Amino acid sequence: MAKLYFHYATMNAGKSTMLLQASYNYRERGMRTVIFTAGLDDRAGKGRVSSRIGLSSDAIPFGGEDDLMDAIAAMHAQEPIACVFVDEAQFLSADQVWQLARVSDRMGIPVMAYGLRTDFQGKLFPGSLELLAIADELREVRTICFCGRKATMVVRLDQDGRLVREGAQVEVGGNEKYVSLCRRHWEEQMVCDAVPPPHQKDLLPDTH
Ligand SMILES: [Zn+2]
Repeated sequence: MAKLYFHYATMNAGKSTMLLQASYNYRERGMRTVIFTAGLDDRAGKGRVSSRIGLSSDAIPFGGEDDLMDAIAAMHAQEPIACVFVDEAQFLSADQVWQLARVSDRMGIPVMAYGLRTDFQGKLFPGSLELLAIADELREVRTICFCGRKATMVVRLDQDGRLVREGAQVEVGGNEKYVSLCRRHWEEQMVCDAVPPPHQKDLLPDTH
C-alpha cells in the first residue's frame, strides 16, 4: 500500500538534502519521480529544490489553488511515476494535503512531503497541521540547538540580525534569517520574562 509520509523539522535540518537523496535513489534505478516545491519560495529560483550542501534538482512550483492530484494524474498517464516528492510542504493547503493523500490511496503512488512543523512564533503552518493530522507516517528530521539539545523551534532575524517577535508567517523575498533552537532557548528569546527571576523561584513550593 502506498503511503503519505511527512518528514518534518525546523529550519536548516537538511530536509531538502534528504528529499534530493531519496529522489535520486529512485532515479538511479530507472524509476521516475516528480518533485513539487512552493511557488513562493525563490531561494533556488522558481521551480528548483536546492540544499545547503550543493545538491539541486528541477521542481514543479505549486500555488495555493493548484489541484495536485489532477497534475500528478496527467503526468502519470504520460509516463508512470514511482514516487512524488513535495518540498516546503508547510505551504500546502489542507485541500492539497488531501489531494496528496488520494494520490497514495487511489493511484497507489507514495508521496513524501518535507516541511517545517512550526513558524517563528511557534504556530503550526496550515500544510503541516493537515499533514500531522492525516499522514500515514511522521518522521522527524533532527538538528540541534547551540546548546546541544534537539532543535524544534525557529526564530526569525531581520536583515540587521535583530530578533522578530511579530509579523506575517511568511516573508516573501525578504532578507531575514532563521536560527533553529531548542524549545527552552526559543522561549527565552521570544518571551523575555519566560524565566522567573531567582527570588521568585525560591518562593515556589518544593515538590520533590
Ligand atoms: Zn538550546
